[in-house]
Amino acid sequence: MRWSRLLIPTLKEDPAEAEAVSHRLMIRSGMVRQLAAGIYCYLPLGQRVLDKIHAIIRDEMNRIGGQEITLPALHPAEIWQQTGRWSEIGDEMFRLKDRAKRDLCLGMTHEEVIAWLAAKEIRSYRDLPQIWYQIQVKFRDEVRPKSGVLRTREFLMKDSYSLDADETGLALSYERHREAYHRIFTRCGLAFTVVESDPGMMGGAGSHEFMAPSPAGEDEIARCGACGAAANVELATSRPVAPPVPSWPALEEVPTPGARSIDEVATLLQIDPRLTLKTLMVMTKAGPLCCLLRGDQQLHEKKVERIAGPFRPAHRDEVQAVAGVEAGFLGPVGLTIPLLADGALAAGVYVAGANRVDTHLRGVVPGKHFTARYGDIHRVQTGDVCVNCGGALAVERVIEVGNIFKLGTRYSTPLKAVYLDEQGQERPIVMGSYGIGPARIAAAALEQHHDADGTIWPLTIAPFQVHLLTVNVKDAAMQRLGEELYRGLVSAGVEVLYDDRDERPGVKFKDADLIGIPYRVTVGSRAVREGQAEIRTRRTRDETPVPVAEVVPRIRALLERSDGA
Ligand code: ATP
Ligand code: MG
Repeated sequence: MRWSRLLIPTLKEDPAEAEAVSHRLMIRSGMVRQLAAGIYCYLPLGQRVLDKIHAIIRDEMNRIGGQEITLPALHPAEIWQQTGRWSEIGDEMFRLKDRAKRDLCLGMTHEEVIAWLAAKEIRSYRDLPQIWYQIQVKFRDEVRPKSGVLRTREFLMKDSYSLDADETGLALSYERHREAYHRIFTRCGLAFTVVESDPGMMGGAGSHEFMAPSPAGEDEIARCGACGAAANVELATSRPVAPPVPSWPALEEVPTPGARSIDEVATLLQIDPRLTLKTLMVMTKAGPLCCLLRGDQQLHEKKVERIAGPFRPAHRDEVQAVAGVEAGFLGPVGLTIPLLADGALAAGVYVAGANRVDTHLRGVVPGKHFTARYGDIHRVQTGDVCVNCGGALAVERVIEVGNIFKLGTRYSTPLKAVYLDEQGQERPIVMGSYGIGPARIAAAALEQHHDADGTIWPLTIAPFQVHLLTVNVKDAAMQRLGEELYRGLVSAGVEVLYDDRDERPGVKFKDADLIGIPYRVTVGSRAVREGQAEIRTRRTRDETPVPVAEVVPRIRALLERSDGA
């Protein structure tokens, strides 16, 4: 295709609103434009990348027996009411009414519609298993749509659903998806890690997330450097490294005027923060609760919620009313409200608040000086110890590009998606649900493959394979050679973007680096003088002069040899 006829509105400057690299590059290379917060238009280059990703996804989904369908984006409220999600899901769901004042929503996912369809169409065990998938738009009123196409309010998702007779069948469908996902992300040129995840609002019996490491990610995973075990920090457990044992005598009060925070106390008493104990009061449905953590650890709210139910931090005056002291000097010794201590505190000796202003207690021994319920309530931190093998854990930022869930009968039971087994007994269909965000794949690829000049597309998902560039289209001989090569490449089946614009060479080279097509063929004065064009590899910046007549076969060989990444 000829650049002069395409809509590729590249920008010289970084857009002010874009922080993530992928966001900047997508805007600058003219792939996308934002219509409103979290709502994007895909321009031709962006569309071509999505098409490539979709083709890989379709190929791999078909390979595991997936059947492509298209479900509506507009859903009647009833199916969501039947599963309870109409009321469980809050503002994230776009809701609307039709002219007859009936409730509808814009689909944020399709478990309900699938279960409804299965209820209609699946009769017997002979109809199972099934894998149905679609690449279709989803709507979610995200709290913070940001980072370009990484988190938008309208986005395409490949969602597939497996229908099986029993758990054994589900395990097989799940495994097939896991393998298909491995191939999809590998073929898209992404570095990724598979981690166990928290099934959250989907419910169900197990789930994994596919995570692409990137500082632009909103998720964090903890990975063990020794055994390789990895989990979302939402779920990850660890053993904080044990502190040195202090040689403190028996329990004693120490004056700590004005020292409220862990840092202030540790500095004043000149001790390792790991020897402090922090006490955080929260309000649960059952009343106040104090969470106890080692001073250097952070509270993991979801973990606390799993143990103690929904809660919020206590206000200052609530702490004062319950404990008779301000929060900075709160401690477990002598408190009469329930205590929930992190497992790391089961051993050791600590400094804790004395429940008296400007005072701490030194030599607090959990189990001896206070009694608490123990649970895992800390966030895993880099340097913590792996509970499987004792190796060191590292916490890293990642982009969730896909996930797989074992749903079980969470949706089939309320929507009466049942089948008759071999004995003629009615049973609920056992379901799985599997999502991938193609736009997130594109953005994650940009995050992982770029340099200071722009994008470096993996060949498999690049908008074009070859960027042909005529340095000066006003030079008739040069122009003729460019046209000749363009025709040659096109008839050899190469996807080629031909920069035939009447622009300064500097502008053209800069744009070529910016949009990042894997191979560039340059037709300049050497081509006219000596019959030599140039093939440049975007990733390595290697440039090789190649006789004009050999460009097409050379490019074909490069494309055939390339493994995509
Ligand atoms: P997140 O935790 O990032 O909100 P999610 O768990 O809500 O993601 P799913 O509902 O499982 O995501 O959706 C499946 C896939 O769809 C995700 O792995 C991701 O690739 C993509 N996706 C989800 N939400 C968005 C969004 N707002 N914008 C773009 N892609 C999204
Ligand atoms: Mg979400």
